[in-house]
Amino acid sequence: MKTQAALRPYDVVLVGGGIMSATLAMLLKHLEPDWTIAVFERLPEVGSEASAAWNNSGTGHAGLCEIDYTGELPDGSIDIGHALELNERFQQTRQFLGSLVEAGILGKPDTFINPVPHMTFVRGESDVNFLRRRHETLASHPLFGSMRFSADRKAIGEWAPLLTRERDAADAIAATHDVTGSDIDFGEITRQLFHHLRWKDVEIHRNCEVRGMRRNNDGTWQLRIDWNTGNDHITRKVDARFVFAGAGGWALKVLQKAGIPEAQGYGLLPVSGRFLRCDNPAVVERHEAKVYGRAPAGAPAISMPHLDTRVVDGKRALVFGPYAGANPRFLKHGSFFDAAAALRPHNVKPLAAMTKDNRELLWLLFGQLASTRKRKLAALRDFAPTADAADWKLITAGQRAQIVKADPVRGGVLEFGTEVVAAHDGSIAAVLGSSPGASTAPAILLEVLQRCFPRYQPYWQPRLRELIPTLGHSLVRDTRLARQTVARTAEVLNLNAPLPG
Ligand SMILES: Cc1cc2nc3c(=O)[nH]c(=O)nc-3n(C[C@H](O)[C@H](O)[C@H](O)COP(=O)(O)OP(=O)(O)OC[C@H]3O[C@@H](n4cnc5c(N)ncnc54)[C@H](O)[C@@H]3O)c2cc1C
Repeated sequence: MKTQAALRPYDVVLVGGGIMSATLAMLLKHLEPDWTIAVFERLPEVGSEASAAWNNSGTGHAGLCEIDYTGELPDGSIDIGHALELNERFQQTRQFLGSLVEAGILGKPDTFINPVPHMTFVRGESDVNFLRRRHETLASHPLFGSMRFSADRKAIGEWAPLLTRERDAADAIAATHDVTGSDIDFGEITRQLFHHLRWKDVEIHRNCEVRGMRRNNDGTWQLRIDWNTGNDHITRKVDARFVFAGAGGWALKVLQKAGIPEAQGYGLLPVSGRFLRCDNPAVVERHEAKVYGRAPAGAPAISMPHLDTRVVDGKRALVFGPYAGANPRFLKHGSFFDAAAALRPHNVKPLAAMTKDNRELLWLLFGQLASTRKRKLAALRDFAPTADAADWKLITAGQRAQIVKADPVRGGVLEFGTEVVAAHDGSIAAVLGSSPGASTAPAILLEVLQRCFPRYQPYWQPRLRELIPTLGHSLVRDTRLARQTVARTAEVLNLNAPLPG
């Protein structure tokens, strides 16, 4: 291992080359074109971890299909607050992507986003009833105004024939269908953004891993980076005013290296994912939707089974899953020792409390390791009764690293969202957790900017509105603006226009 001279200092260093770093780099370059920015990615290519197309489900999460994003209140009414909030955040993503297409920064929309209706599919009287009431409540808002409900087998069969073919006639079933849904290739967005940013003097270094960090006397950060050149390993030091740990499952590891007190009490629960994938055109052409069901009892929303149309590199395929399982890695290309190496005196108690409180979930995750291909196919046939084993192969998706954090009452809690963790002086920040993740990347990174650069906000807001025109307005309250925004972004991104009414 050789140590070489330090690189020049940067205003911003982004650790990791996934969708989060690409989005933040794009926002910062738009706001402050003169800032020096460098990205360090440990793999040979950017966008190869969780953001890569086949490592995630590619669902543009907008609350259109995820039944577990709505709940029933004690008075029997349906709580749609979370679904509305998520949809509003996704509308920011649509605007961000649309503005970049109009500016010629992103290529043709169908290279990274495609219209794929979102459906929820349920069985059993109780869930049929819930879905009906859920639809009545949601569809009154224009963000969900294109959602249609049916408990009629023929109508559901027209939306998604694979769901109803040879299904037991005694099964009570119902579905909602929303034409405004989308399938997204987040890896392709990452690549296109970095391709543009390279021309704007953002340095993108690959095959180099950030291995150490320390504070300089002036409050800036020094990063120790190992370059793998193929024949040789070189270590270099780099100074930065601001560091963003866009390192996916390894973001906590970066924060731990930095040693900021704000990261204390955080741990991670790694969850692996596998999918069944079908490329047989005769099957693929019979399904045109992302169909989400209910997660098994005791399992979180990330376990909602779904049968999805995917559009990757212009080709269509179907995937079914995720078969979430236990695996100690925080990244797909991470280390078997990730979970053990992240243990610290301050996160042992939260992790122990989480383990005690989530025994059912942990059993489910370990149980999945023993699940045979036959059992996986049985789960698929709950959705598509005629699925033929010969058409489906197992693929391994990315790793999720769910947040575990200290809790004053329970000792530690498991969370399924994403959370921004930032130093009090705003010199370093990270995004932990993975759900709904990439779909809401612009909203998450706007929060990073607000937390880390509060003094810049008055100057930045008008520039940010060039990319996200509705910023500062509530699409939940301003229903006219909501309607206009969905229609406008559908046009720019070649997505399905919202249905009238
Ligand atoms: C199975 C699964 C299904 C999902 N489905 C969806 C979905 O349908 N819709 C959705 O919106 N989201 C989904 N997600 C979540 C989404 O994929 C993530 O939120 C998103 O990709 C995270 O992006 P990222 O940039 O933070 O991380 P990543 O894409 O993982 O990128 C992090 C990068 O950092 C690099 N890195 C890490 N440590 C270092 C280091 N020390 N030095 C240098 N480089 C480093 C890694 O190599 C990697 O390239 C899913 C995730 C999984 C796993």
